[in-house]
Amino acid sequence: MTQPTSTERLVARLLGPAAPEVSCETCFAELDRYVELELAGADADAALPGLAAHLQGCPACHEEHESLLALLREQGLE
Ligand SMILES: [Zn+2]
Repeated sequence: MTQPTSTERLVARLLGPAAPEVSCETCFAELDRYVELELAGADADAALPGLAAHLQGCPACHEEHESLLALLREQGLE
């Protein structure tokens, strides 16, 4: 078992134990991928940490996520 280096410890402390903060910009940029992973049944939360938390706390991105999800689901049914 390897010990974390001092740099790794510093980064971990700076980022904190919780998921990293995601900005609306990042959220919009990654939302396509997030929804695709969701629909594929993959672990979207693990692939894009912090995004689910942002979607829950941000009404604008939440709405965008809902409409994108609905859109892709419709397309998938064709
Ligand atoms: Zn947002």
